Amino acid sequence: MTAPTLSGVCPECETDLTVPPIVEGETLSCPECLLTLRVEGVVDGQLTLQMVQVQLRDWGQ
Ligand SMILES: [Zn+2]
Repeated sequence: MTAPTLSGVCPECETDLTVPPIVEGETLSCPECLLTLRVEGVVDGQLTLQMVQVQLRDWGQ
């Protein structure tokens, strides 16, 4: 048996990503640009990935 993998493309750097099965809502890091990506959906083994907007806190003055 072969373990199924999922594939997707980094929305930022367009690197092809192959990952072990994960589910919607999980996050992974792009090995190329190190962005955090969240799985928005999985269709036919193809991931829809969304950049996670990192909230940089503005501590103000
Ligand atoms: Zn990337």
